[in-house]
Amino acid sequence: MREAICPHPECARGVTMTRNSHVIVHPRYVDVGTVGRGGYDPTADLNERISQEIWSCDYCKRTTAELVWWEKPEELRDKDDADMFAMVKRRTIYPEPTPRTLQPEIPERIRSLFDEAARTESAGAVRLAGAGYRAVVEEICKDQGATGRTLYDKITNLDGRLSPDVIDALHEARMVGNDSLHDGLAYSQDELADVAELVTEVVTILYVHPAQRAAMAAARAARRAASKAAQP
Ligand SMILES: [Zn+2]
Repeated sequence: MREAICPHPECARGVTMTRNSHVIVHPRYVDVGTVGRGGYDPTADLNERISQEIWSCDYCKRTTAELVWWEKPEELRDKDDADMFAMVKRRTIYPEPTPRTLQPEIPERIRSLFDEAARTESAGAVRLAGAGYRAVVEEICKDQGATGRTLYDKITNLDGRLSPDVIDALHEARMVGNDSLHDGLAYSQDELADVAELVTEVVTILYVHPAQRAAMAAARAARRAASKAAQP
């Protein structure tokens, strides 16, 4: 059992998931008849392993298929008897991951950059996706009229105009993109998802909420005008 966000869009909540089954897809299992004994293909690198796991969501009961990459820890490499592997990464293959999108209230420049970063993320290119979300942060600063030479300066320039929460979130997203390009530091899918969520939170506060408030104010004004017009 593990905690995860259910990947089915109809559910998409934080849930516990239970593993139903797993099968090793690499290395290939060779039958007794061909090599004298049953076992993994002796020509394959036995220090790595890929398995397919089927999990079910304890809340909505839908199933999820994942590919999981494993590696033997350094000290156990090339030792036959040690059947110990450490997980490297896992990727959802069913339901097919759909890239994140932003709501239409958000300016086109920001939305299209975010779309590209999100598609890169769902393709598993974590360094480029990190840099992509950083570019989204740059664009948000530009749209908010920030001045400054570096991205750090620009975000700091918005201090006082935007809430401290928003400033913190922008800085956090900035740091990930920076690390991923300059230091060649690869982030896990989970860390990248955190950054994507931070950026989403920021643009929701900056663009979606004001648009919703404006729409509600317009609706109230229209109702008042209508009731005034109805009076004799
Ligand atoms: Zn679910």
